[in-house]
Amino acid sequence: MSEVKRSSLELYRLKKLVEELESKEGKATELVSLYIPPGRQISDAMNNLREEYGTAANIKSKSTRKNVQDAIESIMQRLKLFRTPPPNGLVIFSGAIPRGAPGSEKIETYVIEPPEPISIYYYRCDSKFFLDPIKEMLVEKDVYGLIVMDRSDATFALLKGRKVEIVETITSGIPSKHDAGGQSARRFQRLIELAAHEFYKRVAEHAEKIFLPIQNLKGIIIGGPGPTKNDFYNGNYLHYQLQNKVLSVEDLGYTEEPGVYELLEKAKEVLKNVEFVREKRLVQEFLSMLAKNPNYVSYGEKEVRDKLEKGLVKTLLISAGIEKYRVRFRCQSCGAEKELTLVKEEILAKGGKETCEKCGGLMYEEELRSIVDELAALAEETNAQVEVISTETDEGKMLLGSFGGIVALLRYAAEG
Ligand SMILES: [Zn+2]
Repeated sequence: MSEVKRSSLELYRLKKLVEELESKEGKATELVSLYIPPGRQISDAMNNLREEYGTAANIKSKSTRKNVQDAIESIMQRLKLFRTPPPNGLVIFSGAIPRGAPGSEKIETYVIEPPEPISIYYYRCDSKFFLDPIKEMLVEKDVYGLIVMDRSDATFALLKGRKVEIVETITSGIPSKHDAGGQSARRFQRLIELAAHEFYKRVAEHAEKIFLPIQNLKGIIIGGPGPTKNDFYNGNYLHYQLQNKVLSVEDLGYTEEPGVYELLEKAKEVLKNVEFVREKRLVQEFLSMLAKNPNYVSYGEKEVRDKLEKGLVKTLLISAGIEKYRVRFRCQSCGAEKELTLVKEEILAKGGKETCEKCGGLMYEEELRSIVDELAALAEETNAQVEVISTETDEGKMLLGSFGGIVALLRYAAEG
């Protein structure tokens, strides 16, 4: 099974795009969504679109009919650029999006090469884009193993994304105190220890059978009432690969299925931290370099942009919390260009216009991109690694608050 590698930047971009698409709504049932699985022939999809185009001729409302047919036509234009679908298939959204006054709508078309394979062919025409399959790809896919145990039994469960799957419960066979009968206390204690040892071995065997084959197993969390779970964990019974993946051992009030759900609640914090460990580490790496070897780092938009343009950046850390845009203006008289970094209010205030410094003529807004996208593209051109850092950790907040959300680790020491 091939592991799906998704960079923080790719995910960030897809998330932003999905958010944007989600906000779009047609005047009527006239937005088209098309999902093509990798195995499908482009010609099949074309035939299907021709049929849909024909069917759309029956739509009563003239504007809806035109908008649906225009959307289908636009999709067919894009499809012509592909001989076969890309490795994960293809997703295309197209439709007339209102820009204000009636009749102001414009056809917008989005082509996405999804990060995971499309499994089913879909053609949908609705007042919204059909985004569920692509949103599903944004859901966390990692798997965690859960073991809930006490003196009497052990329950194994899997956490897949947001779903919990209870696998099985085994009983311990450890005798309880009232089984002691007439035996000496010492002899009975010895019996219990032996039974516990056998139980822990069995728990480890079941854990190995259930968890070891899982390729994307991110970690294991153990929980339960009393000291049993600790004895099990501290006794190193688990297969070493699994033992190394234990993220935490939690105290619980319940066992079996209710214990699993209790463990899940407790695990949320643990799992959140796992997700953010990488981000925290990256920011900490920057901070320690800044303290030890400041020539090897750069921060602030202007400085980092300069280092990126010189190809000096090894890793660009950029905060997902930055709400700035890079806007390119072009003079209609002399053709001069100018780029500015602006916040939304400034963009609105300018109304898409700017005065040319060279000839005094009028400059018009040509292109607008989020600063994250723009700097990331610049980084990619020079093979710098890009990491989009959330604002959910202290480190992420500091990145945004103290460094403007843009810092870089450099390949070489920068001069002065
Ligand atoms: Zn000019």
